[in-house]
Amino acid sequence: MVESILDEYGITGGDHDQHFLVDEHFLNKIVDSAELNEDDTVLEIGAGIGNLTVKIAGWVGKLIAVELDPYLCAILRERFADYDNVEIIEGDILDVELPVFNKVVANLPYSISSHITFKLLKHDFELGILMYQYEFARRMISPKNTKDYSRLTVTTNFFADASIIMKVPRSAFKPAPEVKSAVVKLIPRPASFEVVDEDFFLTFVTAVFGQRRKKLRNAILNTNNKLGINNIKEIINTLPNEYMNKRAENLEPSELAYIANQLFKFKTENS
Ligand code: SAH
Repeated sequence: MVESILDEYGITGGDHDQHFLVDEHFLNKIVDSAELNEDDTVLEIGAGIGNLTVKIAGWVGKLIAVELDPYLCAILRERFADYDNVEIIEGDILDVELPVFNKVVANLPYSISSHITFKLLKHDFELGILMYQYEFARRMISPKNTKDYSRLTVTTNFFADASIIMKVPRSAFKPAPEVKSAVVKLIPRPASFEVVDEDFFLTFVTAVFGQRRKKLRNAILNTNNKLGINNIKEIINTLPNEYMNKRAENLEPSELAYIANQLFKFKTENS
């Protein structure tokens, strides 16, 4: 069925990360994992020809599907013309203002995974079931002291619990991508540690992981143009040496938050 739609419309995929999930087993597992019900308003990103869309639509009160490709949007509008609960938004997910939704379910365009994820995490929702490139998914959940522990890990951890719920082989897609995939479950929740100023914390995390081979002391000095703190050298000397002598990749999110909070305090007191 799914494959016949691709053939009928002569869609070969390729552009815009177009790798359509055609394996019924994985489509069903994604939808099951979202535990959908009629009170849900679901956002789908990159609906393609509607393989996931059609399965989600059967369960939920409202489904808002964003798709960039005008040709695919035309197909989606035709396919879902008789559905009262499906809205198709033609546009770039990075440009559209996100609607109100409580769940997000999507087989994402991988090349913009980071941008989409950071945008989503700052938004209010209850549950995300999202397909990513496997390596990207690993980076979302890796512990400190590993090469995959990154700005993405710390930011994800700040906003949500994240776990890989299944790996998905290349053969589940048409055309098959060159990379393996994984589905990540995201459950937003308040962080278990205090962050005084969210924007400053996120800027700090971006800055210090941009210098991940440097000790925190130098990473902060080198990126103070972004942090904007007066007397930064003096201030660094007041911060715990045990943190300053480690790299960002060796510190827990809560430890990074502690340093960010201290810096933010100095910044506001001395500006
Ligand atoms: N969900 C479908 C298609 C996944 S492929 C399926 O599983 O079969 C990724 C989809 O994202 C493609 O349809 C592609 O056109 C779309 N896409 C790519 N970049 C996008 C963007 N910036 N905004 C919205 N959709 C995008």
